[in-house]
Amino acid sequence: MPGEPQADCLFCKIVRGDVPATIVRETETTVAFRDINPQAPTHVLVIPKAHHRDAASLAAEAPELCADILREAGAVAADEKVDGTGYRIVFNTGSGAGQTVWHAHAHVLGGRGFEWPPG
Ligand code: C5P
Repeated sequence: MPGEPQADCLFCKIVRGDVPATIVRETETTVAFRDINPQAPTHVLVIPKAHHRDAASLAAEAPELCADILREAGAVAADEKVDGTGYRIVFNTGSGAGQTVWHAHAHVLGGRGFEWPPG
């Protein structure tokens, strides 16, 4: 069933508290925690508590959660005071794009300059 927790999913384990994470925000539907391998001074992951494999699946299976994640990404940026200078929200989708954890997540990156096109 879409949205059901997966026993072997790392981010489901973080949601359950079975794997430690530095949680910075939590709502009824989302958790935001610091990335363990930060790529910018601010690097926070915002995930739905429900398990969906990637951003496209999330949009198809639970579109309301997309709004929750984007709202929380903006709140993280404001909390971290990177909203004034600008920040990046990234959903790596598929292994060719760098997705390594198959539970939808938004990277919120800020606190440094960013290039375009991205690497
Ligand atoms: O987009 P991608 O799937 O590669 O992102 C997964 C992210 O999860 C990585 O940036 C990785 O550093 C992070 N991670 C984490 N805590 C873990 C395992 C992975 O923050 N325990």
